[in-house]
Amino acid sequence: MNSRPAATKPNDSTPENFMTQAANHLALAGGGHAHLSVLEMLAQRRPASLECTLITPSPFQNYSGMLPGWMAGHYTLDECRIDLRPLAEAAGVRLVTGRVTGMDADHHRLHLCDGSTMDYSLLSLDVGSETDTSDLAELGERLLPVKPLDDFFVQWPRVMAAALKTPDFRLCVIGGGAAGVEIALAASHGLRMTGSAARIDLVASETGLLPGHAPGVVKRARRSLVASGIEIHHARAAASETGLMLADGTLLPADKVIATTGARPLGWLAHAGLQLDARGYVLVDAHHRSLSHANVFAAGDTCARTDVRMARSGVHAVHAGPVLAHNLLATIEDTELHTYQPRRRSLYLLATGPRHAIASWGSWSAEGAWVWRWKDRIDRRFMHRFALSGRDNSAAMPASAEHKA
Ligand SMILES: Cc1cc2nc3c(=O)[nH]c(=O)nc-3n(C[C@H](O)[C@H](O)[C@H](O)COP(=O)(O)OP(=O)(O)OC[C@H]3O[C@@H](n4cnc5c(N)ncnc54)[C@H](O)[C@@H]3O)c2cc1C
Repeated sequence: MNSRPAATKPNDSTPENFMTQAANHLALAGGGHAHLSVLEMLAQRRPASLECTLITPSPFQNYSGMLPGWMAGHYTLDECRIDLRPLAEAAGVRLVTGRVTGMDADHHRLHLCDGSTMDYSLLSLDVGSETDTSDLAELGERLLPVKPLDDFFVQWPRVMAAALKTPDFRLCVIGGGAAGVEIALAASHGLRMTGSAARIDLVASETGLLPGHAPGVVKRARRSLVASGIEIHHARAAASETGLMLADGTLLPADKVIATTGARPLGWLAHAGLQLDARGYVLVDAHHRSLSHANVFAAGDTCARTDVRMARSGVHAVHAGPVLAHNLLATIEDTELHTYQPRRRSLYLLATGPRHAIASWGSWSAEGAWVWRWKDRIDRRFMHRFALSGRDNSAAMPASAEHKA
């Protein structure tokens, strides 16, 4: 197909031009971790007749694994984000800066934030998830959800500046999972380094710190939190105009509340016409293909597998990437699809503020400066891989090479 499947204004899409515009058009929604592998593969082997478009709110994909290190002052912003433009260019993929705001899966159509529509023959969704802040609206301006990361990267320096100016600044982090623990520790280190004496509280629910991790990991994390002067609370929290009210009656006034309260799917998926699970995630099979629409694939946080329980983590988004890339081409070329088999256990490396980290793998745990160096090496190698792909595709690592832990 020669004509570009350009974004069309709402009334442009007659059935005829739908066929010509969308035939052989692969639309990639979101520049998430799995789509990095898709771009890498397309740079190596894109069928000549295939038109591809990447729709992304920002030309940069922020890397959550290095966010705590950035907050703690160990990385610059540029070290934590991947420039999607050279990757798209090397892959011959048109990059549209915008946001998908809706879709009609039955008519193979996406709705974009500028009111235009885009038709596709094949769609891949890697749009991630949002922080679930449904119970925290009352906090108003005090609320800072960790996702979307684009916003968080803009807001955090402002929080640091406010904390420096306000002698009794109080920061609460709500959510006792890995992200909450890392963010609280990173915030503490980053603020202390700038000379702020802000007080930091971490509110984990009654289920406690780091659910799903071994007792040894929880013990190490608690020790780091206590050593950093972070107060830990185990109670359900309700939002108020001035901070958080805990179920045990404690009032925690807060100038800012960082929410790391788990993930929720993007709202527009509810009306996309795709088969979803009870929480609203796109249901996919082991090929990462939609259960309801054979020309839709999804990977990363936005999907839910029907055959295995898979945690929403970057590890799975990254590791499913090469399988997704293969399956998109296999669908076009009508060859066999591959399956993504998640490992039973994943390695988690939790940054604790200074250049020190905790390793968690099943019942095994360890900590130290060497764990930080290990994490740093893995994260930098991951970033370098996609920086290389953009500059010189011939030097890019093969899609099957080792990813981030
Ligand atoms: C602080 C923190 C630390 C973490 N550390 C780790 C870790 O060390 N290891 C780990 O495995 N996991 C970690 N995670 C979890 C990890 O961030 C997610 O599981 C991972 O980002 C999911 O990848 P994804 O590709 O699904 O989505 P994302 O990485 O979120 O990418 C989605 C992309 O889609 C774009 N997008 C969003 N909405 C739209 C739209 N409407 N239209 C078009 N594009 C859109 C976004 O801008 C983004 O570029 C961490 C999370 C947090 C919050």
